[in-house]
Amino acid sequence: MTAIVRLVKIVDTRRWELGAKGMQPVPGSGTVNVCARCGMDHEVHAHVELADGRMVVMGDTCATREADHLGAAIKTAKAHTLSLAKARAKLAALETLAAEWRRYEATIRSEYGIPDHVAFANARVGGTTANLANHLTRRTEEHFAAKGLSTWYLPPQACDFASARKAIERIEKKRPE
Ligand SMILES: [Zn+2]
Repeated sequence: MTAIVRLVKIVDTRRWELGAKGMQPVPGSGTVNVCARCGMDHEVHAHVELADGRMVVMGDTCATREADHLGAAIKTAKAHTLSLAKARAKLAALETLAAEWRRYEATIRSEYGIPDHVAFANARVGGTTANLANHLTRRTEEHFAAKGLSTWYLPPQACDFASARKAIERIEKKRPE
């Protein structure tokens, strides 16, 4: 095989999801590429330039084996790609959660006849002094757990979105050359 002269980029094509161990890539969810070196399938693609000017795609491990001098660059680029994918997935998960909260809240409001301007915490239920937030804690947890979402008792807040966006920016700024 013609020598590799340059790593162009590492692309992670997998979907990331919140699992038991935090945000994780889902095996089999990406676009399979047949490695230019070993012929095996890869979902994390290393785009490299060959000495004859051709651009090919291979697995990052194969690229490292093929071009020893690029090993460190490939490792750094892969780590960067994965942490960016993870940070973006975290923000996407927050957006999904917020959207589900909007739907859930609308259901509860119509069920209990709570007007939009009354906060859950101030709503009374069935003539008791229990506020709706307490009343619904269990139900809320079950609702979100059943959907595989985190069982927060509150919708994601502006500060959660801000820190997720900041994390993405921070990683983007550290893009290796
Ligand atoms: Zn390979």
